[in-house]
Amino acid sequence: MSAGDTRPALLVTGGSRGIGPATAALAAREGWNVAVTYVSDGAAGAQAVRDVENAGGTGGALRCDVREEAEVVAAFDAAEEALGPLSAVVVNAGVVAPLSRLADMEAERLRMVTDTNVLGALLTAREAMRRLPRSPRADRSVVILSSVAARLGSPGAFVDYAASKGAMDTLTRGLAVEGAADGVRVNAVRPGLIETEIHAAAGRPDRARELAGEVPMGRPGSAPEVAETIVWLMGASASYVTAAIVDVAGGR
Ligand code: NAP
Repeated sequence: MSAGDTRPALLVTGGSRGIGPATAALAAREGWNVAVTYVSDGAAGAQAVRDVENAGGTGGALRCDVREEAEVVAAFDAAEEALGPLSAVVVNAGVVAPLSRLADMEAERLRMVTDTNVLGALLTAREAMRRLPRSPRADRSVVILSSVAARLGSPGAFVDYAASKGAMDTLTRGLAVEGAADGVRVNAVRPGLIETEIHAAAGRPDRARELAGEVPMGRPGSAPEVAETIVWLMGASASYVTAAIVDVAGGR
């Protein structure tokens, strides 16, 4: 951050692949400085930073496994050190596991999914609420990545993931009310089938395109299309929007 830099600061977890770096790049184009976190793919994190810098922002890439409290705290420390006080946080890091019925899922997989998607999101959101400067006239923002799976339940595919995203809808509602009087807006985005690498972890890399027929609009969405709604929710144009859960799902 250079002296006199007045751009607001954003932290995006899971900013190395898919929706995270698309959000970071769009936010940078709209005037934000952006720190992203990654867990395994440092090269992708560095690319996300270059994209932020190419858009005129200051960026930073921080290694952080959101399942580990100390790493989440350290990532917020490093983001504040690099960018100054945060104005917004996108709770984005998330995983799926191979398509399966619940009856066939091992505890280790259930732990991995819930630790990342629920515990990790709670730790990230908690840290955001501790650190975002609070005053009734401020406009600070937390955007949480849910999924249409929270509505659909994802039977035969990943009900564990769907349940973890249902928790995000509940978290959004409660945290929005906790933050409302302090100028912290909390909203969720519920993407549908979006073309990212997440589907490879489910064992079907082309799943978004294969299921396009189930989408009323007849096609999967893209990461930049989801980013548009996230960045809108963070910004002044959404100043009276809180506790909202916005589907970005082509009607699914
Ligand atoms: P993605 O392409 O698989 O990227 C996942 C990101 O999360 C990566 O940056 C990854 O880091 C990071 N990550 C994974 N495990 C982590 C951990 N334990 N700690 C910290 N970071 C971790 O996923 P995506 O499709 O962009 O999804 C982003 C969010 O949108 C997720 O919450 C997902 O559930 C939600 N969503 C996606 C879709 C979809 O169809 N794509 C639909 C609905 C909701 P590394 O690169 O370093 O591994």
